[in-house]
Amino acid sequence: MNYEKTFEEIYNELLNREDRGSVADYIPELANVDPDQFGVCLTTVKREEFSYGDAEKRFSIQSIAKVLSFVMAYSSIKSNIWERTNLEPAGTPFNSLLQLEHDRGIPRNPFINAGALVICDILVSELASPKENIRAFIRRLSGNNTVDFNPAVAHAEKKAGSRNYAMIYLMKSFGNIRNDIETVMDLYCHLCAIEMSCKELSGTFLFLANNGVVPWSGERILSPSRTKRTNALMQTCGFYDEAGQFTFKVGLPGKSGVGGGIVAIHPEKYAIAVWSPRLNKKGNSYKGMLFLEEFTTKTRLSIF
Ligand code: GLN
Repeated sequence: MNYEKTFEEIYNELLNREDRGSVADYIPELANVDPDQFGVCLTTVKREEFSYGDAEKRFSIQSIAKVLSFVMAYSSIKSNIWERTNLEPAGTPFNSLLQLEHDRGIPRNPFINAGALVICDILVSELASPKENIRAFIRRLSGNNTVDFNPAVAHAEKKAGSRNYAMIYLMKSFGNIRNDIETVMDLYCHLCAIEMSCKELSGTFLFLANNGVVPWSGERILSPSRTKRTNALMQTCGFYDEAGQFTFKVGLPGKSGVGGGIVAIHPEKYAIAVWSPRLNKKGNSYKGMLFLEEFTTKTRLSIF
C-alpha cells in the first residue's frame, strides 16, 4: 500500500474545504506559526515510513507530551497513580476548573491539564532530575538525541499560565499536590514546550502500537496490558470534550495538542502523526481531525 499517494489525495481534497480553524494565540510563539503548514507521517511496526508535506518540520507538541509523561510515571513509578487521578473522560475543556472542586482535587484523567499537573507532581517526587529524566526518556523512545524543549515556549507558558496556576493551587488545597508549586509548574511548562516533527512523533509513539516495545531498540517500556490501557485512555480521554467525535469519525486512540499536532495509534499496525496549526473550537487541529477521518475511511484502517 502506498500511503504517500493516499496522503496527497486527501491533502488535495481538503484544500477545497474552507479551513475554519484558527491558531492558538495565548502565547506569541504559537500565534506566530505559519498556519498553512501541513505535515503527516505514518510509521508501521515493521518500520516502513510514509510521509507527506512538512513532515520533518518541528513544532510544539504541547499536550501530546501528556501521554509521554504519563507513560514515564506508569512504567517506572512506585506510587499508585490511580489514587491521585481518575481515568474517566472529562467531557469538559482541557483547562476547565469546574469538576476539580466537585471531585475534591482529583482530576478526571491524566490527559487534561489538571491530571498532567498531578503526574508532574508525582515525577517531581520520584525522580532525581525530572526535566532531564523526561527528556532522556523521550529521546530513548524516539531514538533521537536532539529532541528538546523550546525554552522560550516554556517561559511563555508559565507567564500565560494563570488557569494552570489556579488548578494547581486548588489541587494543593485538597492535598493532591505534594511538591513546591513552582517546581511542578516548571516541569509542566517544559513538557508543553517539547518540539518534534511528524516523523519523530510517529516514531516515538510506535511502541504503543507494538505492545509496549520500542521497535528499533527492543526496549520494553510497558507491559502489553499497560500498553492496552494507555491506548484505551487515549481513546476515551485524548481529545477532551471531543473524544467522542474523534472516536466516531476517526476510530483510533490518539492525542492532540494546541500546537496543531495529533498522534494516533493502530495497535499492532502503525502510529500516525499529523500537523496543521489551525485549531477548532475544542482546541484540536481542525484539518488534522478531518485528515485522519478521511484516512481511516479510505483505507479502512480504523480499529472499529
Ligand atoms: N500549554 C497548554 C496548556 O497548558 C497545553 C494545552 C493543550 O495542548 N491542549 O493549557
